[in-house]
Amino acid sequence: MDVLVVAAHPDDAEIGLGGTIARWTEEGLDVGIVDLTDGEPTPRGERHVRLAEAERAADILGTRRLLLDLPNRYLMDTIEARVALAQVMRLHAPRTVFAPLGRDQHPDHLAASQLARHARFYAKLTKTDMAGDPYYPPVLLQFATSHLRKVFQPAAVVDISDTLERKISAVLSYRSQFELREEAVRETLTATARFYGVRIGVRYGEPIFAPEELAIWDPATLLPG
Ligand SMILES: [Zn+2]
Repeated sequence: MDVLVVAAHPDDAEIGLGGTIARWTEEGLDVGIVDLTDGEPTPRGERHVRLAEAERAADILGTRRLLLDLPNRYLMDTIEARVALAQVMRLHAPRTVFAPLGRDQHPDHLAASQLARHARFYAKLTKTDMAGDPYYPPVLLQFATSHLRKVFQPAAVVDISDTLERKISAVLSYRSQFELREEAVRETLTATARFYGVRIGVRYGEPIFAPEELAIWDPATLLPG
């Protein structure tokens, strides 16, 4: 697997990183989303509906989708949860892991951020009962789906001018969550993408965050497209 996106809830990865995911899969990269919980209960959602919506969103973005089924709203960075996520990393050997930013009002998002960091470390352990071979994902980056009303300084901004519409379609596939406020969601996603796009001189952008130094693997990426 090229990229594993760790999300607390189905729709987090789409909201925070959907435009970038669509760009990767257009280039033929193998991108997986692991939802730590099923995201339910919510006021208008049901498990089977939410899972179907998540599959639809994954189809739109061209990704695979896994569900760990940890407890929504009570997600914790426990030993068992670390082991479960570490096994996903060992079995799929992603080159890059994306986790939630970890500066947030939502306790599940905070827990998911910590959990991803700790699972990455656990994934390399030897002499354990964990499935798969020891593996340390070389790159850990972060995406934002923060409930804090605050602008965080990104490490980089990805040009998603050509994939914003797919991102919006993926997010709106969660009809149980957004059906009653589609226009507001579209407006918010577009305005946010425009805000970040302006930062790098393109129409629409998506911020990424780096808990470690951001490596430039290919210096050609420093040249405008
Ligand atoms: Zn969430």
